[in-house]
Amino acid sequence: MDHARSRREWKRAQRSIPGGVNSPVRAYRSVGGTPPFIASARGARIRDVDGNEYIDYVGSWGPMILGHAHPKVLAAVRAAMKLGTSFGAPTPRESDLAEAVRRAMPSMEMLRLVSSGTEATMSALRLARGVTGRARILKFDGCYHGHSDGLLVGAGSGVATLGIPGSPGVPKAMTDLTIVAPYNDLAATRAAFERWGGEIAAVIVEPVAGNMGCVPPVPGFLAGLRTLCDEFGALLVFDEVMTGFRVARGGAQKLYRVKPDLTTLGKIVGGGLPAAAYGGRRDLMRRIAPEGDIYQAGTLSGNPLAVAAGLETLRLLEAKGVYEALTTTAKTLASGLETLARERGIPFCTASVGGMFGFFFHPGPVESFAQAQQSDAARFRSFFASMLESGIYLAPSPYEAAFVSLAHRPRDVDRTLEAARKAFARSIRAR
Ligand SMILES: *Cc1c(COP(=O)(O)O)cnc(C)c1O
Repeated sequence: MDHARSRREWKRAQRSIPGGVNSPVRAYRSVGGTPPFIASARGARIRDVDGNEYIDYVGSWGPMILGHAHPKVLAAVRAAMKLGTSFGAPTPRESDLAEAVRRAMPSMEMLRLVSSGTEATMSALRLARGVTGRARILKFDGCYHGHSDGLLVGAGSGVATLGIPGSPGVPKAMTDLTIVAPYNDLAATRAAFERWGGEIAAVIVEPVAGNMGCVPPVPGFLAGLRTLCDEFGALLVFDEVMTGFRVARGGAQKLYRVKPDLTTLGKIVGGGLPAAAYGGRRDLMRRIAPEGDIYQAGTLSGNPLAVAAGLETLRLLEAKGVYEALTTTAKTLASGLETLARERGIPFCTASVGGMFGFFFHPGPVESFAQAQQSDAARFRSFFASMLESGIYLAPSPYEAAFVSLAHRPRDVDRTLEAARKAFARSIRAR
């Protein structure tokens, strides 16, 4: 595989853009090599500027659940574009999108559209603090909720991958208000509540963790959080930026039957354009300005192109059998990888929920970030490089989930597993 053009583009990019990328994990720091610069994508395939084609399991980090450049989404965006690209004034389609979200997630009785997941979680927590009059937030180690100051602690993927424990530039006073507990550890969460209960405004959690690999909640974890929040008067915030419309149409809250007070969405809800949302109980959302006193705003919030892409994506996800198909594809990949690794005697475990899956070079189980970090990084690097060379585009970090789309076909799965067979064989020889 030739990467000459990507290498040239990367050199050029680094002169103007830090690391040559506009989001750190894209720079391939934890796997080495040159990140392919992308020219185009269609369906399950992504093509780089050198003309190499890959089967894509990144899916723009989650949004592309229908596959890339879906003709109906493109048509919806084109139609919207002809009418003007931004008005900074209300439009009927924003209500259409809000209603589509509410149909899928009834716990979101009202919602506000924003432009990124970061904005959604930041705003949800401002609301939680405003409503409760409390300052502290409890989050879980390895969960990522965007890059806002108070949430950049124990934040999994990007941050963990770079080995930065938080980030310079975030005042200690901000992170002092963030309590970090181990994921899937109710006893530790209760202990935190016993110490700071009356000061905790909200618990924010990825109901299926997808920013430390794919780590599902253990039975009772999410329900236990609900109970603890009720007992101590804190709000429960499900960050479903990744899991919303990904693990089920109704998100993880539907799958695990736990009702949060507030939910954040992003990724799929924008259909590949910048839209995100936060919402929940009506009495809470009525506190947002102008109905209430808690301020949040955005020039491009509810942008017509993003709303059109999101709406069309959600509409297509209403078709029958969609989530069964996604679940089957993800499961087949996960179990196929596990079988191949076992045959080679390689310590390896996988998880899949709906249309997302993950794997660790670790004998398993992996239920927390501490366990995820015990996975074999060298083996991951070698596996990743071999897969890429075979035309399989995975996230360039051992702490990311993989995403399938409705465009991934059985033959794509077969090709992926064939590439994995080779990659595992090489990873043994490499040791
Ligand atoms: C991606 C992600 C975010 C941040 O969303 P951006 O649109 O990248 O700001 C927040 N929370 C979770 C769970 C995510 O996966």
